[in-house]
Amino acid sequence: MTKTFQKVSAIRGMNDILPAESWLWENLEATIRQWLAQYGYNNIRTPILEQTRLFARGIGEVTDIVEKEMYTFSMSKDKTDIGEMLTMRPEFTAGIVRAVIEHNLLYDAPQRLFSIGPVFRHERPQKGRYRQFHQVSVEAMGYAGPDIDAEQIIMLARLWKILGLTDVRLELNSLGQPEERQAHREALVAHLEKHKELLDEDGLRRMYSNPLRVLDTKNPAMQDMANNAPKLFDFLKEESLAHFNEIRARLDEAGIVYTINPRLVRGLDYYNLTVFEWVTDRLGAQGTVCGGGRYDGLLSLLGGKPAPAIGFGIGIERLLALVLQDKELVKPAECDVYFIHQGPEASRHAQVLAEQCRDEGIRVIVHAGAASFKAQFKRADSSGAQVAAILGEDEVKNGTIGIKSLRAAEGVNIAPQVTVPLATFINELKNRI
Ligand code: ATP
Ligand code: MG
Repeated sequence: MTKTFQKVSAIRGMNDILPAESWLWENLEATIRQWLAQYGYNNIRTPILEQTRLFARGIGEVTDIVEKEMYTFSMSKDKTDIGEMLTMRPEFTAGIVRAVIEHNLLYDAPQRLFSIGPVFRHERPQKGRYRQFHQVSVEAMGYAGPDIDAEQIIMLARLWKILGLTDVRLELNSLGQPEERQAHREALVAHLEKHKELLDEDGLRRMYSNPLRVLDTKNPAMQDMANNAPKLFDFLKEESLAHFNEIRARLDEAGIVYTINPRLVRGLDYYNLTVFEWVTDRLGAQGTVCGGGRYDGLLSLLGGKPAPAIGFGIGIERLLALVLQDKELVKPAECDVYFIHQGPEASRHAQVLAEQCRDEGIRVIVHAGAASFKAQFKRADSSGAQVAAILGEDEVKNGTIGIKSLRAAEGVNIAPQVTVPLATFINELKNRI
């Protein structure tokens, strides 16, 4: 007796993107690629799997991502062999930096790079938050800024404009340099120690390991304490302030409105100087569409020659949700011409003629299998084709083909059905699509 197979479903938080929706993804990605090309960014494709060490070092041990969100496993028999641990990328930057170092890409020129694809984080799935989601990651390496910092922000403003988004707002901050952060950190730890009784479990755990992140808490009981904590801004020296002010001047010149958010620290450890987020109120709790910043220390941290860099990540699910809000987009037709046929000879003949059409750049679906004319016409109609090409026994015998327009522009009469000789049918099709 065969055992019945228990149906398999997709993993929680990991979505199938079905044809009803995937065309919207393809459109959005095409728009994004065009936009990136306008700024001279080149595509880079790195593996989804990397050594766990890369992210632990690159993102930071005491971050949400590394502490609890990574999909990590081992293919080695010795599960304690840390050198063999592998992780599904939770973001792109660390992998891109690894590749840049490994292939010495910064040897003779700086690099503007981008990747688009899936990333993986074991978070609690909810609207706008998934376990497999997709990012556009954009990285400029070998550039010290602040010109490139401003350019990246300005280019994002252009993307929102291209996509017709009006209510995405910019939050900006400067994290200064490591020495400045160190001085601030000491003052901050002193502040946290003074208010220890207000800290929750995460706060206490991070008080010494990552005190800046304690301020990023969503715990209402800790808000006052966080608001009154020493501000990193007050510890920034002239050079860091000048970098920040130059970005501000360029944003002003570009007419880009922003708010300075001194609490903006972001969930990855590698940032310095510029950090920014683009946020919307139209997506509920998951309102951050894009986050980015400068990571001048990351290349050397991962064993490369020191080089300054800045980048950002856009969440595609959230961006698409925003683009689609209050909009009904109509799926484009699957083909221009749908071939309908009756009988085995007509079926073979249709396949030959369809290839001739495709040689001319026409998009064609040939009905596959046998079905009544009526059923085939129904399919033709739902394919969105402009025209049905009809091959019955008579047409095959006479060397002709029937052409029927299925739709016409509004206010225009549908062209009458005709039967034409094969010598002219492609022209007749072209006239009608
Ligand atoms: P959040 O604060 O929402 O967790 P994050 O700071 O962890 O975001 P980044 O690491 O900066 O996010 O990733 C860049 C972008 O990817 C985010 O701005 C967001 O649009 C998107 N994103 C992050 N996590 C998820 C997720 N689990 N599901 C869908 N999109 C996500
Ligand atoms: Mg997160």
